[in-house]
Amino acid sequence: MPGQRELQNEFSWSKSRDGVFNTCLRAYYHHYYGSWNGWRHDAPPDVRELYIMKNLQSVPMWTGAVVHDVVRQAVQALGEGEPLPVDLALVSARERMQRDFEESRTGRFRQRPNRMCGLLEHYYGLPVTNEFIQETMISVEGCIKRFYTTSSYQKMLHLGPNSIVEVEKLESVPLCGCKIWVSPDVIARSEDDSLMIVDWKTGGSASSEATRLQLAIYGIYAVQTYGASPQKLRAVEENLRLGEQHVYPLGEWVLEEARKYVESSFRKMQALLHDRFRNIALIRDFPITDNLVACMGCRFRRACDRA
Ligand code: SF4
Repeated sequence: MPGQRELQNEFSWSKSRDGVFNTCLRAYYHHYYGSWNGWRHDAPPDVRELYIMKNLQSVPMWTGAVVHDVVRQAVQALGEGEPLPVDLALVSARERMQRDFEESRTGRFRQRPNRMCGLLEHYYGLPVTNEFIQETMISVEGCIKRFYTTSSYQKMLHLGPNSIVEVEKLESVPLCGCKIWVSPDVIARSEDDSLMIVDWKTGGSASSEATRLQLAIYGIYAVQTYGASPQKLRAVEENLRLGEQHVYPLGEWVLEEARKYVESSFRKMQALLHDRFRNIALIRDFPITDNLVACMGCRFRRACDRA
């Protein structure tokens, strides 16, 4: 379109980018470089296909996204002073899942891969039975019902709408000269002015090092954005599948360790670039992994002939 500026592929860091980088360098290349511009109508077919693969979701990723979306709606509604009743939240989840599933099953997602749901299972022709989808819906409903009983939600309900500071806002913060993307699920303010950072989880394990790091990075963001002191930060992981809560201390040294981790991670990423200043990567510098277990769950296996 005339006057529209072309998006530049600027280097930035996020926890999810770090996860892909540590799993497989080729997947990292496809995700952040090979599929770039794949949204354009005039994209070459191989770039477009990588872009479609980049946006695929496995069933667990999809169910996690549905739960996160409905929970976001519920917390936003609370922030607007009109809490969302649980039965309406469940209806919203069911409708969303039916719509997503049809977009994926019929292949419609290929038209708008970043807006519509494309399941890895459909893309790779794997069986997805009705019983499996029914079980998945029951699991999503269980997570949503559990959300309403969490002490984090109950606390926000007790504190009222003004306690909600932000909900799944995608923001960036500068750290050691790099742009870092963050999107905390919820930040809420308590009576004593402390900030509660909440992370909803829907996976089968809880209290991991990865979650600790993620919450510490949100802590750095909260300190920089809201001027909070680390002593007044409370990071909470609510596992909605297991019904478990874990509270993480975010003292100064925890934030410092997270800063060091982020810096070391993005320096490793930048060291592999062909041109660090223009953020140009060459596929030859990003080999495929020998770890076939990583390939089994990977979106890009068609590109690597490992489908
Ligand atoms: S299929 Fe395997 S080698 Fe290829 S990008 Fe995925 S994880 Fe890496």
